[in-house]
Amino acid sequence: MWSLLNEQGSWQGEVWNRRKNGEIYPEWLAINAVRNLLGEVTHYVAIFSDLTERKAADERIQFLAHFDVLTNLPNRAHMHDRVDLAIQNANRDGQRLALLLLDLDRFKTVNESLGHSAGDTLLQVAADRIKSVLGPGETLARQGGDEFIILLPVISDPSEAAIAAEKIRDAFVDSIDLHNHVLTITSSIGISVYPDDGRDFETLVRNADAAMYHAKSSGRNSYKFYTADLNARARETLAVESQLRFALERSEFVLHYQPQVEMATGRILGAEALIRWQHPALGLLGPARFISVAEERGFIVQVGNWVIREACRQLAEWQREGLPKLSLAINLSALQFRQQDLSEVLQRSLTSNGLAGNVLDIEVTESVIMDDVSSTIQTIDAIKSMGLQLSIDDFGTGYSSLSYLKRFKADKLKIDRSFVQDIPNDSDDTAISKAIINMAKNLNMKVVAEGVETLEQWQFLREQGCDQVQGYLLAKPLPAEDFVKLLLNETLLPPQPSS
Ligand code: C2E
Ligand code: MG
Ligand code: MG
Repeated sequence: MWSLLNEQGSWQGEVWNRRKNGEIYPEWLAINAVRNLLGEVTHYVAIFSDLTERKAADERIQFLAHFDVLTNLPNRAHMHDRVDLAIQNANRDGQRLALLLLDLDRFKTVNESLGHSAGDTLLQVAADRIKSVLGPGETLARQGGDEFIILLPVISDPSEAAIAAEKIRDAFVDSIDLHNHVLTITSSIGISVYPDDGRDFETLVRNADAAMYHAKSSGRNSYKFYTADLNARARETLAVESQLRFALERSEFVLHYQPQVEMATGRILGAEALIRWQHPALGLLGPARFISVAEERGFIVQVGNWVIREACRQLAEWQREGLPKLSLAINLSALQFRQQDLSEVLQRSLTSNGLAGNVLDIEVTESVIMDDVSSTIQTIDAIKSMGLQLSIDDFGTGYSSLSYLKRFKADKLKIDRSFVQDIPNDSDDTAISKAIINMAKNLNMKVVAEGVETLEQWQFLREQGCDQVQGYLLAKPLPAEDFVKLLLNETLLPPQPSS
């Protein structure tokens, strides 16, 4: 600094300085020498600006580029760098590495029913739990949403990745206290190994992702390794996606009808309309194969409106044929329930078929109605003022506020199949079913048990006072013409065991 000042008469640069309070801070300093007529330096003029804030902003930008703000974990870009480096090292040392892609199960339900700030807290807790079981050198990153990536930079055998996945699963065993709700969360993990399953970051992540989906579809709370035939399945999903947009205009959707029966009398009160896709190459596909795709791709409202129109058309036809009076239950997905003109769509389908409102029964899940309660109330009031019935589907699997249930004036609760399944062997499920039936009675709602498959289940539910049943024990969802044959019989009761 001094030599430049002497030689050139000016200097500028970054220096550390100290404030009066002793704090050290960075400043940008420019010094100029002032000379008199004789050319002697008489003064120095220095101008400085405080760089503290700019430095902080720079660091923040660096941080944002590489880290996730919510969890403070490295982000995907940062993970990309780490994996590239680990791949180089693995190559040099003739070692393998593993990527684990982790997705929280049912995160969407929590986020939708308890709110986004609860969702955020859950992600932070999940991040801490995963971190707590990782070894030194192992990196955890948040890939986005409720997905995390874990890098095991050196493994000598893929089984080490399985051990890591099990440790992570154990880390989630204890329940989490989240804004006064105690929840247990689980995760699904897909594993890909370098170099076996891919030689670069993108391929390893894509294959871990395919494995993760496999883990999800085989019952959640599990981990799966990538295998080559998962690729074939991924291609099939793509084919479904690309053909779904044409399914409506090609009239490839059909409704099947599953009877809903009054327990006390065996009378068929109505049916649940369940959509199927008659796929030209893959055959008859159930909703599990395409509803979520339709939701993601934004087709669900069109598909759902078709279901409403078709159910009304079919009902009117049956009424003209003089069949016994019955109601049809239709399932609405969240997006459909939130569409502005839902009640007009319903009204139009009813009037153009000459139907009264009370022949339709709208099924929505708890998470759909608990999310955004104020708009829910308006929608429900509109639907109910048209005389339609409202059922809460899959009851017991989401989170409901009981006072809202009462406010919503739901007509029916449908006990989810998962609780019915283990009656009478599992004492928890038995107790839950009992409690739902009692609660519904006290709130003046009807109870429908879904998925009744055995006579034991039927008997138990009957003793508890359950109003209606639906299940394979009585009938599977049937094409319209087969359903009509059932309707012609007076009643539908379970086959009695031959003594
Ligand atoms: P959900 O509304 O809970 O429908 C009941 C599901 O349980 C149906 O499956 C039915 O076939 C099945 N089920 C009924 N009884 C038994 C039984 O005794 N044992 C067993 N194992 N299963 C039984 P499905 O038809 O595959 O439908 C699955 C889900 O897809 C439905 O669950 C519903 O959420 C959705 N879904 C169906 N149709 C539509 C639709 O038109 N629109 C929308 N948005 N969703 C639909
Ligand atoms: Mg349903
Ligand atoms: Mg259900």
